[in-house]
Amino acid sequence: MGSADCLFCKILAGDIPADIVYESETAIAFRDINPQAPTHVLIIPRRHIATINALDADDAHLVGDLFLAAKHIAREEGVAERGYRVAMNCNAAAGQTVFHLHLHLLGGRDLSWPPG
Ligand code: 5GP
Ligand code: ZN
Repeated sequence: MGSADCLFCKILAGDIPADIVYESETAIAFRDINPQAPTHVLIIPRRHIATINALDADDAHLVGDLFLAAKHIAREEGVAERGYRVAMNCNAAAGQTVFHLHLHLLGGRDLSWPPG
């Protein structure tokens, strides 16, 4: 079930083009339009969920699928051994700008900690 004014639901529907790198029954992943690292992929559930705050216990499997997708994509991108980061921003103060749950996968360069 999509949300009519959600950018990522439009990508899921094929209404907005994206460089899709992974698809499963529950999730898809595509390259970020404004990459912050040589590999910057966004992994999203097919089902529209706005933020982490909207998750409930029934979504546990779905969230697990996002991490398994990250593991798979990191290997495909050749960043698994050197290292990579997965991050999910929740709401404005954390920098969330698209309100459809998404895991950032960042790799291909050394990443500092803590993030800004
Ligand atoms: P957030 O800031 O919500 O955690 O992450 C949203 C991400 O979506 C940003 O990194 C931004 O560059 C990316 N983004 C925004 N619009 C588009 C788009 O139309 N296509 C793609 N592929 N990425 C987008
Ligand atoms: Zn959506």
